[in-house]
Amino acid sequence: MGIQDGLPEDFSPDAYDAIIVGAGYAGAVCARRLAEACGFKICVLERRHHIAGNAYDRYDEAGILIHQYGPHIYHTTNERVHQFLTRFTEWAPYQHKVLANIKGTLMPVPFNHTSLKLAFGEERGEELYRKLVLTFGENKKVPIMELREQNDADLTEVADFVYENVFLYYTMKQWGKTPDQIDPSITGRVPVFVGDDDRYFPTAPYQGMPAASYTDLFEHMLNHDLISVFLDVDARDIIEVGETSVSICGNAYGGEIVYTGPLDELFSYDLGALPYRTLDMDFETLDVDRFQPAATVNYTTSEDFTRITEFKNMTGQVMPGKTTIMREYSKAYEPGSGQTPYYAIIEDENLDLYRRYRERVSSLVNFHCVGRLAEYRYYDMDGVVASALDLTDEIVAQH
Ligand code: FAD
Ligand code: UDP
Repeated sequence: MGIQDGLPEDFSPDAYDAIIVGAGYAGAVCARRLAEACGFKICVLERRHHIAGNAYDRYDEAGILIHQYGPHIYHTTNERVHQFLTRFTEWAPYQHKVLANIKGTLMPVPFNHTSLKLAFGEERGEELYRKLVLTFGENKKVPIMELREQNDADLTEVADFVYENVFLYYTMKQWGKTPDQIDPSITGRVPVFVGDDDRYFPTAPYQGMPAASYTDLFEHMLNHDLISVFLDVDARDIIEVGETSVSICGNAYGGEIVYTGPLDELFSYDLGALPYRTLDMDFETLDVDRFQPAATVNYTTSEDFTRITEFKNMTGQVMPGKTTIMREYSKAYEPGSGQTPYYAIIEDENLDLYRRYRERVSSLVNFHCVGRLAEYRYYDMDGVVASALDLTDEIVAQH
């Protein structure tokens, strides 16, 4: 049915079996699955001027494919997710590698065998590596917070180095807190790797970039006779969540509603705002073929920004004489300021507040929350797709 700007004058929610708020992974996956499995006529409302949510990519003025909301690397171990997405794109092979700039020396992150030798010298690096292998085994991932608990002088030496030079300053910049003060699952995303593999996601069997672009993947996913997408529409202007029912355009709505935005926003923050981190992204096009030796370089001991991404190194795009890079600056999110809430802050108090909002919609049988924002989770793309597929299983079972 297509993608159009704004709602038509004669828009009627009752013409649709489901209203979906948000055209990111959560919304687009639900739209496609419900159209196919239930024959539902679907309306997707998206307040941005584009589809694909934070995975949106586009060509910049220099003709370089950039990721507008930060570098996105597809990786998953989930067979179902991979099969589903593969219907809408071919994949270009890409294995993500990251270097940390540690006081001017570039070392692989996750910190691995090579990093050890660069940090401690060949001989001592090998000694320490043997100790790590003896303790944890080869090709094993060891979260830094677990490594720090080891009661052994050699392992403490490694743990102290990695903590101080890889995690401490980067985490302070990213979260405004030290690694000890944040949920261990967050630093656990980038464990020390006891091995030589220098890929960022060494155990993901499926990894790559959509062959054309993420936006192209979404165009295919949303291209279905039963799906209509309306851009530049803030659902809050027409949706009202009551205690026993949800109204759309002033009338109680009987179809399914899938909401993928922040839950506190929907209630005008009346229980308080859910805390997030946001990012300032500073794009720059340079007149050189290549700026840095990896797609992403993390600045773990210096600079105000956390990392620099060079998009051509990820997408494989050939564009001689020009390259676009992007620096990320993290800061606290101010609700209602127009900033994008990029990262939920996983802390007990915040999760409690989230649960209180969630309880308010729990008795509304046709109102479903899914996605990184609506579930207040630190999901990667595949996690969102998995969650959306699970939700659609439930809805399909009821129809
Ligand atoms: P979103 O993509 O945020 O989509 C939600 C959509 O809903 C948005 O488009 C929003 O405009 C819309 N919306 C919200 N409220 C309303 C409303 N009231 N009315 C209308 N529309 C509304 N994942 C990976 O797997 N690999 C990576 O390398 C990776 N890198 C990342 C880098 C950064 C900097 C960030 C922030 C995230 C990264 N992710 C990565 C995670 C990935 O972006 C998310 O998991 C995924 O995009 C979330 O999809 P979603 O649909 O839940 O949310
Ligand atoms: N991290 C770090 N140094 C690094 C890489 C990661 O301190 O070089 C920590 C930091 O706290 C970060 C977290 O590990 O927020 C998760 O990193 P990841 O690269 O997964 O973050 P994302 O890509 O989601 O921003």
